[in-house]
Amino acid sequence: MNAHPSRLVTRKIVERKCEKCACFLAGHNLEKLCSPCANQEKRKSWLSKSLNPSFVTSAEELAKIGIVELIAINKLTAEVAIPLLLKSGVLPSRLRRYQSLLIQLVALQGVSNSAAARKLNVTRWTVAAWRERLGIRLTKIDT
Ligand SMILES: [Zn+2]
Repeated sequence: MNAHPSRLVTRKIVERKCEKCACFLAGHNLEKLCSPCANQEKRKSWLSKSLNPSFVTSAEELAKIGIVELIAINKLTAEVAIPLLLKSGVLPSRLRRYQSLLIQLVALQGVSNSAAARKLNVTRWTVAAWRERLGIRLTKIDT
């Protein structure tokens, strides 16, 4: 006689593994992937779709994800990504004339807003606003 029938049932479910990282899946998870892997996959597929001209994404999403990661995942350069984002309307058309400056700004990672402003010949408030729009976060507090 089995004194702990529920334990056997539980073990059988827990033994299912994530197809990606091979961790044990939670008992209630009936998917092929664990939730961190599933989230990562979802995010990846969103990122790779987001620069497809037929895929409309929002300015809010860009600011959240960040241009740097978007470019890395899509294996693009800023020279390709910025015009695409302008074309799809994710970046407002009024920024079109600053296209080359935005491309340069992506390359100025880790450079303070004021130093980037001098380099691009705009104000540091403009740099801060553009960085916010592009989702470029500075690692240190910039003044
Ligand atoms: Zn996993």
